[in-house]
Amino acid sequence: MADAPLPIARGLRGRCPRCGEGKLFQGFLGLRPRCEHCGLDFAFADAGDGPAVFVILLGGAIVVFAALLTEVVYQPPYWLHAALWLPLVLLVTLAPLRPIKGLMIALQYHHKAAEGRPAHRGDE
Ligand SMILES: [Zn+2]
Repeated sequence: MADAPLPIARGLRGRCPRCGEGKLFQGFLGLRPRCEHCGLDFAFADAGDGPAVFVILLGGAIVVFAALLTEVVYQPPYWLHAALWLPLVLLVTLAPLRPIKGLMIALQYHHKAAEGRPAHRGDE
């Protein structure tokens, strides 16, 4: 990850998007109020449903493809499907959720993305 652009590497590691030193998360997915290293206020950070959407789309595709392939090739009993795919669902959804949320917040900071506001007169 040393060659990755800074915001991407910092986000995936769950670090502050400005300094790359302070921790972004408090708990599994909760954000700290500010960076403990540089003091950046994390109030701007709002990834919304974005991380969950990407995780669902990617993880769902992986599990469904694996389950279909296994069914077509081996036709295993249903209990084996449950034993295989339920843990895989947890793995492919929970493991990438935090890095993807960190990535989205780092990109939000990098691109100065914010919620849309009505334009003031004279701004148009
Ligand atoms: Zn910082």
